[in-house]
Amino acid sequence: MQAKIVLLPGDGIGPEVIDAAARVLDHVAARRGHQLTLDSHPIGGAALRMGEPPLPDATRVACVAADAVLLGAVGGPEFDHGPSEKRPEAALLQLRKELGVFANLRPARVWPGLEDGGSIKPEILRGLDMLIVRELTGGLYYGEPRGRTANNQAAFNTMRYSRPEIERIAVVAFESARQRRNLVTSVDKANVLVTSRLWREVVTEVGERYPDVRLEHQLVDSCALLMVSNPQKFDVVVAGNLFGDILSDEAGGVVGSLGLLPSASVGGRGGLFEPVHGSAPDIAGQNIANPVAAIASAAMLLRHALGAAREADAIERAIGETLAAGARTADLQAGTGEPLSCTGMTDAILQRLDGIEI
Ligand code: NAD
Repeated sequence: MQAKIVLLPGDGIGPEVIDAAARVLDHVAARRGHQLTLDSHPIGGAALRMGEPPLPDATRVACVAADAVLLGAVGGPEFDHGPSEKRPEAALLQLRKELGVFANLRPARVWPGLEDGGSIKPEILRGLDMLIVRELTGGLYYGEPRGRTANNQAAFNTMRYSRPEIERIAVVAFESARQRRNLVTSVDKANVLVTSRLWREVVTEVGERYPDVRLEHQLVDSCALLMVSNPQKFDVVVAGNLFGDILSDEAGGVVGSLGLLPSASVGGRGGLFEPVHGSAPDIAGQNIANPVAAIASAAMLLRHALGAAREADAIERAIGETLAAGARTADLQAGTGEPLSCTGMTDAILQRLDGIEI
């Protein structure tokens, strides 16, 4: 296999965790004889510091031409007060649109051995394994009109979804459920919102094409409650942009550290893969960030953008075995033993990977 992968390390801990993920990609490529070209480009604050816009044109062109993009994180306190087009985060919204990646996949699972680490009782967490499918390029975040009234006394956004937008994200959810436990929970606020009534109608229609997959509808408020009281009930959860944004962070909080959560944005060209966490300026440059989210994002890249499921499975197994053997970075530390550094955790995962057949 030959593939061009663009790396966008970005800001804060981004370069540290992307370096870890790149080492793992290089390792599997060497083992399997794949030719993966990994090219780094600036984005976010790193680009702004070079006098470029948050998404420089050369970076945009490279991303569009690549088979897949692996992003670290963007943002930092020094950019918090600039105009919105000069904010590092502007690059993310622009890149998602450029690549047409309308489906954000966020798996949330509890790794064996980490059931005791969170704020939820271990018996509620044990075996938790869900996939949140969030619509990423429509809904309230992009709807027009938006703005302020002329007298500046009110502001407004528009929540809008078309049938084709709902249909394509529902298809992603049902197809994903077929690879898992055949259950889709569709989230809406159909008791109040007209947009949600169309959402429910279209998801139900798509569901009729998947008789082997069970479909449940859940109002977003009760879904938020179930995420903490009975999260094991979920398999695939599909939601619009706003509800999916909030619920996926909640699910992340339930399973523990942000440093464990990968994501994939797919459906358009190639795909954009990134850890859920941000640039973590409080720990940047200290080599103590947890690289698992970025490494697991690289596994998703192999599976979803390059069709390399065996390699992806092997990486996820190596992560699971490393954590089960007790390896912990500082964010996972339960108070005993010396935590591993970012590179130390990466070394431990690579060592496990060495012993796994790919
Ligand atoms: P954050 O995710 O960067 O950090 C939240 C907390 O989690 C911090 O205490 C941090 O140290 C910890 N943390 C995060 N990732 C970790 C890891 N891999 N290992 C260990 N600990 C980790 O969120 P924030 O502090 O709200 O935001 C910081 C900056 O990141 C802001 O500028 C924000 O806009 C940006 N941000 C970017 C993205 C993105 O690039 N996709 C996402 C969220 C936030």
